[in-house]
Amino acid sequence: MSKSVEEILLQDDFNKEDIVRLLKSDKIERNKLYKKSAEIKSKYVGNLVHFRGLIEFSNVCEKDCLYCGIRKSNSDANRYNLSDEEIIGAAKFAYENRYGSVVLQGGELTNKSYVGRIENLLKEIKRVSNGELGITISLGEEDEATYKRWFDAGAHRYLLRIESSNEDLYYKIHPKDEMHNYQNRLECLKRLQRSGYQTGTGVMIGLPFQTYDDLANDILLMKELDIDMCGMGPYIEHTDTPLYEFKDTLMPLEERFNLTLKMIAILRIVMKDINIAAATALQAIDKIGREKAIKVGANIIMPNITPGKYRDDYALYQNKPCTDEEADDCANCLEARVNITGDSIGYGEWGDSNHFKRRTSK
Ligand code: SAH
Repeated sequence: MSKSVEEILLQDDFNKEDIVRLLKSDKIERNKLYKKSAEIKSKYVGNLVHFRGLIEFSNVCEKDCLYCGIRKSNSDANRYNLSDEEIIGAAKFAYENRYGSVVLQGGELTNKSYVGRIENLLKEIKRVSNGELGITISLGEEDEATYKRWFDAGAHRYLLRIESSNEDLYYKIHPKDEMHNYQNRLECLKRLQRSGYQTGTGVMIGLPFQTYDDLANDILLMKELDIDMCGMGPYIEHTDTPLYEFKDTLMPLEERFNLTLKMIAILRIVMKDINIAAATALQAIDKIGREKAIKVGANIIMPNITPGKYRDDYALYQNKPCTDEEADDCANCLEARVNITGDSIGYGEWGDSNHFKRRTSK
């Protein structure tokens, strides 16, 4: 006989079938899951939410991911590239508002001058913040020498989503060519770990062709890789991408949203002390989506501090929230938002992954 959700939640560890069962939980069952994940979060990471001021500094990208609105082949994307001054200005805003950390995210490039530019920017962010701002980067696949250079320049956390743990599915949502290689992406995660980063990955939830088994395997892969951080969110279709063709096969947005909350809660129980971000894409579906994620196990929020005039153009998906605001508006709004979850904000702190600390002190 198959186990009930209650029985599964009494266990210390979950296998694939357990996770699938939890993912299929109904409204009453899922509240039990959320209660347990909230307890684990409180015990292992506490109830301080940490900020990462998100600077989406450019949407110029060499890659052609079939789901992404800023893919190279989307000629309708209005390309931009923030100046160094604008990027440093945003970092100063984060520093002055005691955000603790910033994330530099952008389209992917690999050329020498780009690698050098990022290196200089990292050093400059450290300099203007007296070494106090923590820096996460999310700049895609690079060779190990580049990862090391950026680490030495001051970045200490890296987010690279594997997007899906199912290699076949990976090739359904990416072009099949050298630039989009699943094994290389996995190898990049290992390079990041070897280079000393707190390493984060994640997946999209509700992708075309994705099954419950795939999602369960995503969680098991994160555990196997022993990641320190995770950012995962619902897949949201973009009209100007090849994957849009499959829009009629998708589950409704609300279901993708609920499934994302369940994934966060399950991952919190399975990996306990990692950092889990409340993805911005959740808020594109539900106005208090990120706050709901905080309640079920997430502990990181990435307030957008990209100068407002560029925000519309970093359109990975449509209906991105807060594109008509400036960083100042977000600061006030977020304070109120986190307060409603019952958690508080860890102002001025890096909020590093407890998992990383434990892993590296062994
Ligand atoms: N080039 C960097 C940053 C990519 S954008 C990198 O590859 O790491 C960050 C994340 O946005 C991606 O990893 C992907 O998971 C997510 N994303 C892209 N398009 C999306 C869409 N249509 N819906 C939801 N998330 C999307």
